[in-house]
Amino acid sequence: MHLPTIDIGANLTHPSFSSDLEAVIDRAHLAGVEQLIVTGTSVESSVAARQLAQTRDRLFCTAGIHPHEAGQCNNAAIDALSVLLQDPKVVAVGECGLDFNRQYTPHPDQERWFVAQIELACQLGKPLFLHSRDAHPRFADILYAHRDRLPAAVAHCFTGEREELYAYLDLGLSIGITGWICDERRGAHLHALVRDIPADRLMLETDAPYLTPRDLRPQPKARRNEPAFLPHILRTVARALDQPAEELARQTSNNARRFFSLPLP
Ligand SMILES: [Zn+2]
Repeated sequence: MHLPTIDIGANLTHPSFSSDLEAVIDRAHLAGVEQLIVTGTSVESSVAARQLAQTRDRLFCTAGIHPHEAGQCNNAAIDALSVLLQDPKVVAVGECGLDFNRQYTPHPDQERWFVAQIELACQLGKPLFLHSRDAHPRFADILYAHRDRLPAAVAHCFTGEREELYAYLDLGLSIGITGWICDERRGAHLHALVRDIPADRLMLETDAPYLTPRDLRPQPKARRNEPAFLPHILRTVARALDQPAEELARQTSNNARRFFSLPLP
């Protein structure tokens, strides 16, 4: 069955897609992924994401500095993001946030450039595409300090526990769910938690090439995730919500279109 969906986060500028990117995008379209937002994680990858987004009507992108890249960030990088974000194809600031799981960047650097990107989003009135891993409650505290001016914001790839989810919902955040929920070891808790996300604040993403749904059969070559697997994630979330997949597809697509101000496909 054809379920029209929107993948709000795919790292299509990742080198693992360099040899067959066109085929990957075509497969996504055939799988019903009507629109797709390519994630920017550094100035270079955001420039590449924008270039890619300009090649197809249904592609969009974000521009931001991932916390793993924050060690190389500076004011010139923030200025470069600001220029990219003038393009209507660049629909959000991010991904940005905090990652205390892998300590690639010292915390003060992560926090400094996270705040700089929040301020950029406030200033431009563009939504925030947020990354938080093992950074609760510091991440929520920083957002709370900006709560008066915060634009629409989504906690992408939410994998946390109930308390963290509620903190984000209290901040008015939308929530992005990935194939993590398809992992019977690490993602089982999400089956109950997704029921607590208000219907109009739930969005879906693959985070490709990462987070290949563990229960996908057959497993793809080199276990590379791709946007064409979004319907598999959608069906898993629909089962957890005890909701028809068609209805969830419509709801999450409407949410994404409204959140990122996407045109109708
Ligand atoms: Zn992320």
